Amino acid sequence: MYHVTIRFYEELNDFLARDRRKHDIEFAFGGRRSVKDLIESFGVPHVEVDLILVNGASVGFNYIVRDNDRISVYPVFELFDIGGVTRLRPTPLRDTKFVLDVHLRKLARHMRLLGFDVDYLEGRSDAELAGIAERDNRILLTRDRQLLMRKIVSRGLIVRNTDPDRQIVEVLDRLQLWNACNPFSRCIECNGAMQGVRADDDGFAQIAAVIPPGVRAWCEEYYSCTNCGRVYWKGSHYVRLRAFVDRLRKRKEDLNTG
Ligand SMILES: [Zn+2]
Repeated sequence: MYHVTIRFYEELNDFLARDRRKHDIEFAFGGRRSVKDLIESFGVPHVEVDLILVNGASVGFNYIVRDNDRISVYPVFELFDIGGVTRLRPTPLRDTKFVLDVHLRKLARHMRLLGFDVDYLEGRSDAELAGIAERDNRILLTRDRQLLMRKIVSRGLIVRNTDPDRQIVEVLDRLQLWNACNPFSRCIECNGAMQGVRADDDGFAQIAAVIPPGVRAWCEEYYSCTNCGRVYWKGSHYVRLRAFVDRLRKRKEDLNTG
């Protein structure tokens, strides 16, 4: 038998049974085991882990646990300074490209509205989602813990909230993306890049046909999707977007103070 002491920090405790949270856990097991397997046996997906210390030294997921090891497990988005130790991934997780689980349709639209690169299509299987995350270096967002336990997924986040407005606040907070928002840069429908078109630009003729005369009468600035060709303008859409962003900021303040 191997006897170890293991402790999970910060939000990793969300995955633990209540009586195991926020304190040292004495644990015994038989047979050779990697630290990754040990961590996942507690229900914590490896993609949520960014740093593992064994007896004070950082180790990789493949480290084979030894008797009497003292293991500390830290989450990906912990804000304290861990400069100088080995992180488990070569590149930081804060690249802002995402692929979303099929159940997060509203969150996908919210994120695109704020300008984030979000790959989302209905009807994808777990294997497809995991493959896209790996191939395109995208952060996989899901509410399904099992999905993030797949071996090939190295970058992912479990979304805790169920309400889409809370979900976007959660994602922006945990990945510290508030300053990365760039509204009107992504098409909400297809994730294509948008380009600005002014009414006196040469390119305006190409989009003029789809603009209602009532809008054309007052609006000089448009945005067209370079992928699907949809045209947006700062009309009711823009007003809704502004209201949405303001509501999010307010919500964030409320959540922080509540
Ligand atoms: Zn589009």
